[in-house]
Amino acid sequence: GAKNKGRNAYEFYRPEMTTAASELLAIDRGLRNAIQSNQLVVLYQPKIELSTGRIAGVEALVRWHPPSQGMRSPDSFIHVAEETSLIDRIGDWIFDAVCNQIREWKDRQVPPVRIAVNVSARQFRNPHYVENIRKKLAACSPFDGFGVDVEVTETTLQSEPSIAEALRQLKAIGFTIAIDDFGTGYSSLSSLKQLPVDTLKIDRSFIEEIPDGPDSTAIASAIIAMGHSLGLTVVAEGVETQEQLKFVVDQGCDEAQGFLFFSPLSAQECEQFLMKGSVEPMLLQVLGKSHE
Ligand code: C2E
Ligand code: MG
Ligand code: MG
Ligand code: MG
Repeated sequence: GAKNKGRNAYEFYRPEMTTAASELLAIDRGLRNAIQSNQLVVLYQPKIELSTGRIAGVEALVRWHPPSQGMRSPDSFIHVAEETSLIDRIGDWIFDAVCNQIREWKDRQVPPVRIAVNVSARQFRNPHYVENIRKKLAACSPFDGFGVDVEVTETTLQSEPSIAEALRQLKAIGFTIAIDDFGTGYSSLSSLKQLPVDTLKIDRSFIEEIPDGPDSTAIASAIIAMGHSLGLTVVAEGVETQEQLKFVVDQGCDEAQGFLFFSPLSAQECEQFLMKGSVEPMLLQVLGKSHE
């Protein structure tokens, strides 16, 4: 029992905590093993530029594939990694995977594309983080159209005081910055103006309720208008229906991402679509237009 395991075990023992804590430990141990035994996979979900139907970029989304089990979604393990310091190692692994992908696509003469990487608040606590990823990216000399965008959630911006400076440095060395899940936090207009942000990604929960949820629909329009008045690119996340797409196009939204176009794809599948470069015919069809 806890008594025999020494002081730490004793202090740790609180009945209401054990389930959560043991589950946390199990996931943490599984993840450490996952990094070493190549069970992590990066999928890529294209974003579409709405004025042209071109692929505007792809977002890197991590998956955990334990042997003889299904893929685990990041929502089931990223928060655990964020509570331990494991997110630093996982984040490094993901960034390396993305750099390797850029090298591979360059070698295979895939048309250049920017890749967006999600970064957790906790990763910005490492004072070497910016320098760390600068070096990694420089090592795959991406300056020919390939590049990396950083996505941070709106809540991350509010939780880490050091983040504004880190984002400034990232921006200065060629990263672009997107605020993810926008509309779910409490950013003020003035804080947005002060941060070196390029892009707002409207949270999926608002897009989901278009057109039947009047509040969400109004919020989505307001974010598009506000983003544009600040000179930012606005992306609609989680577009699943033609109706949602028509709505965001009518509101002048710049880009869209969602199952209507693409699910997150394996690198090989994604490469095929990058070679094609555009979903214009499909977009025109959805919008009820035809080629002149
Ligand atoms: P996110 O960055 O907001 O990513 C968008 C999520 O929405 C992804 O879930 C994507 O698969 C999903 N999605 C895209 N289109 C649609 C759609 O039309 N309908 C629906 N229902 N869902 C759609 P995923 O891949 O499970 O990732 C969940 C979250 O986990 C991400 O949200 C991000 O916050 C986090 N995450 C994913 N990869 C990483 C990573 O490499 N590092 C970190 N720190 N976090 C990550
Ligand atoms: Mg994201
Ligand atoms: Mg999001
Ligand atoms: Mg999210």
